Amino acid sequence: MDMNRRNFLKVAAGSSLLLASGTSADAREARKLSPDAVGILYDATVCIGCKVCQSACKEHNKMPVEHSSKDMLWDDPVDLSGKTLNIIKLYANGTGITKDSEVDGYSFIKRHCMHCVDPACVSACPVTALKKDPKSGVVSYNKDACIGCRYCQLACPYNIPKFEFDKAFPQIRKCQLCDHRYKEDKFSACCEFCPTGASVFGNVNDLLAEAKKRLALQPGEYYKYPVAHVRSRETSYRPVAKYQGRIYGEKEGGGTQYLMLAGVPFTKLGMPDLDETSDAAFSENIQHTIYKGMIGPGVLLAGLLFAAYKSTNKKDE
Ligand code: SF4
Ligand code: SF4
Ligand code: SF4
Repeated sequence: MDMNRRNFLKVAAGSSLLLASGTSADAREARKLSPDAVGILYDATVCIGCKVCQSACKEHNKMPVEHSSKDMLWDDPVDLSGKTLNIIKLYANGTGITKDSEVDGYSFIKRHCMHCVDPACVSACPVTALKKDPKSGVVSYNKDACIGCRYCQLACPYNIPKFEFDKAFPQIRKCQLCDHRYKEDKFSACCEFCPTGASVFGNVNDLLAEAKKRLALQPGEYYKYPVAHVRSRETSYRPVAKYQGRIYGEKEGGGTQYLMLAGVPFTKLGMPDLDETSDAAFSENIQHTIYKGMIGPGVLLAGLLFAAYKSTNKKDE
């Protein structure tokens, strides 16, 4: 097994459980999608990589520009960070000529918080600085409650929460689905300003229905893609590309409120290949188990040492 961060934690947790046998926790069910949950459908085949969503996200969330090139002329982040909550990335292969093709082609991918149905970050946070709204399902962050432990960063399977290492009083930063705009009857800025309908906001059940409708279309057929909001009457009329027959986020990790369609396999676009179970329920049950009777710290340390020992041995071999 490759001893990456995620596997390390899983091994440590597993070791702890083994050693902690004799104690048990009441297993909790994975959380279910609220009927009022809101989210985003991103369709990489409709995305033109203009990055208007990235700029709109900065503007409407008051985030600073970020420079990765020496000329410092543009906001050009290379990844999500304490200054960037949303980023458009590029997949390219071979000649890179054909859009939405895995071979000799390219595709865009829009990365930000997935607003998991059963979020591991919420489960891992010891002080409830991260919360999931029971109605909208938005996963939001409270800087006043945060103690800076960064457990949320370790727990997130999508590597989303970022820490402001360069600040005297750092916060965790991540997309909050623009929930500050809802009271003005507005929604996610990245969707409102997307010119092609590649990113649309709406009720998650509507987004799922829209995604399934697109998967049933034939490549080359023309379709009216709603722009900005899944129920919008403004549409962009264009030919349908060949989709991967899968809605990313429908089931992964217990489901997410950010759904994706693409023409290139999602693993090639940098998305993790997760199974359908929620890690949050699993890890919460472990936490409750290892802290029962205060045997937790010792047992957890034993698990971590065991994992480190195994990793070192593997490297030596
Ligand atoms: S993607 Fe990560 S940060 Fe966002 S809700 Fe899921 S676990 Fe939390
Ligand atoms: S929903 Fe708002 S915060 Fe999240 S990526 Fe879109 S614009 Fe940025
Ligand atoms: S604004 Fe829309 S089309 Fe432009 S990069 Fe973002 S998602 Fe793609």
